[in-house]
Amino acid sequence: MDSNHQSNYKLSKTEKKFLRKQIKASHTLLRHEGIETVLYATQSLVVANGGLGNGVSRNQLLPLLEKCGLVDALLMPPNKPYSFVRYKTTEESQKAYFALNGKEIEDDLGQKIILYLNFVEKEWNELGLQTLPPGLMVVEEIISSEDEKMLLKSINWAENTDNRNVQKSLKHRRVKHFGYEFHYENNNVDRGKPLPGGLPYICDSILEKWLKEGYIKQKPDQLTINQYEPGHGIPAHIDTHSAFEDEIISLSLGAEIVMDFKHPDGVTVPVMLPRRSLLVMTGESRYLWTHGITPRKFDTVQASKSRKSGTITSDVGDLTLSKRGIRTSFTFRKVRQTPCNCNYPLVCDSQRKETPPSFPESDKEASQLEQEYVHRVYEEIAGHFSSTRHTPWPHIVEFLKALPSGSIVADVGCGNGKYLGINKELYMIGCDCSQNLVDICRERQFQAFVCDALAVPIRSESCDACISIAVIHHFATVERRVTALQELVRLLRPGGKALIYVWAMEQEYNKRKSKYLRGNRISQGMKGALSSNTSVQGLFVEQMSDVDSQDLACSVPSNDDLQEKGCNSRKVGNSKLPIHTNRTSFHSQDLLVPWHLKGNPAKDKPVQPFGPDGSHDPGPVFHRYYHVFCKGELEAACQTLSNVSILQNYYDQGNWCVILQKV
Ligand code: MN
Ligand code: ZN
Repeated sequence: MDSNHQSNYKLSKTEKKFLRKQIKASHTLLRHEGIETVLYATQSLVVANGGLGNGVSRNQLLPLLEKCGLVDALLMPPNKPYSFVRYKTTEESQKAYFALNGKEIEDDLGQKIILYLNFVEKEWNELGLQTLPPGLMVVEEIISSEDEKMLLKSINWAENTDNRNVQKSLKHRRVKHFGYEFHYENNNVDRGKPLPGGLPYICDSILEKWLKEGYIKQKPDQLTINQYEPGHGIPAHIDTHSAFEDEIISLSLGAEIVMDFKHPDGVTVPVMLPRRSLLVMTGESRYLWTHGITPRKFDTVQASKSRKSGTITSDVGDLTLSKRGIRTSFTFRKVRQTPCNCNYPLVCDSQRKETPPSFPESDKEASQLEQEYVHRVYEEIAGHFSSTRHTPWPHIVEFLKALPSGSIVADVGCGNGKYLGINKELYMIGCDCSQNLVDICRERQFQAFVCDALAVPIRSESCDACISIAVIHHFATVERRVTALQELVRLLRPGGKALIYVWAMEQEYNKRKSKYLRGNRISQGMKGALSSNTSVQGLFVEQMSDVDSQDLACSVPSNDDLQEKGCNSRKVGNSKLPIHTNRTSFHSQDLLVPWHLKGNPAKDKPVQPFGPDGSHDPGPVFHRYYHVFCKGELEAACQTLSNVSILQNYYDQGNWCVILQKV
């Protein structure tokens, strides 16, 4: 076949359509994968749609390609919808180009797939498919099988009374800490409180050897032992810059595993960590790239006998699936004593100079604000947040208990699911934007899923009731708040009821302050702190949004009791959102409310993201966006909804509340 083939006759309609798709495929490859295709014949082709990520197996693709000539190499990157083939000669690749372009094959589920082929010129390693993240090294066979056995035997998973180390059973794996405890609540260590006993004696000679051989430059003082069973994983993360020095090393024992490294640009490099290998992360790979282990039972790995560490795609050879075994990792790190001054300030918690965000001026800005100052924050604080959310509020319980048995009820923004089990006669489904909170619900055996409250994937008119507790105030424009309310109404069948709670601008401070500070579990431990003049931020917000007791006034406060400030003041564009000082009244309807994450007593924590006046507080501070509602505002918003009548409108412990009915 010659290269003028196409110009020798007029293209048919189908051929034109096909050409368009082929060109589209090459554009997609360039845009999304950075793979450049060329218009002249080379030895190598990219086969769009012919990838492992598309359900096309090597066994299926290779014979097809071999019909056209001698295949020099077939590269099938894991999880990608394309593959690369290199022929011995350009003639052969040209033959494949003409023979297989537009060819229909079936994937492993019997779905039809059309292959599109384009020539590529660059060497595959130039396509970014082969290189390890900069600063990453995998040293194979770093220890002997005997040492491996000895190390594995030395871990006593059963012991937990020994205070030399701390053992945690995390959701997806078993963990032990030595030297310093690693706190998962804030991803940091308490550097002022080393664990007695230091690192296990057994590691000493091994570390000395690695130092001498130059794999590491500093002797680590913290060890985390993780045990991953098949199906376990660890979410993608960057080890907190301010917590640990540059070098982070991890010894893989018992079984190999694939660890995924991801650049902020989206480039993902799966890295094979063979048994008895040492992963060394320094520089860019330690500071900028995330690493994680996908929870699954099989990894896509090189099939060849001479299996190598490093990127899965570096070997041009065949890929296959490998069943995971029990992997135990020894991760050694050195606790950092001074703030990090790396070259990656954007991802560096020591260097981040956050400035408060501005009041959103468009729907897009509002959505970004919510993403950063609501969704991300709840994801981060989920565990701590959930631990402060035990006690259901009486009026909400009352609403749920009054519903007829068998009612289908959606809790949109269900948090840790504290209302999902209130009335066992109901069929309740929860949803929340936070995966971590939804996970907590599921651990409690509740039905819950992740979704956006603006677009709940539940059929219209399928619910007998909905509740929306402390959710609507997290939307940053009036339109979005109304959309969220309308979405609740959409879910309701005619006659169905919704209960809505939002934070009130008006708070009962003057007269009831003492009551707020009493009768709450927080007061049990913190009475001293509160009665002294020490400012304990973060407590009051928890209380007023989650008050425990009947000790508090539940009636509508009189105007004297309420501080009504600024309810008529609208935000001016481009103004920075003020940060609320907890335990004081609101000065703005749109604001950031600090959440002080518990569990980091480190005194010299270098980061204090634009904390207002809580600089003495050692824990990291997160800021949640709120629009606090004025008296009448929620009711007015509900009145703009179609097909709704308002049954009740009341004040309950710092919240404005509405019960509405779909008509
Ligand atoms: Mn890590
Ligand atoms: Zn840094």
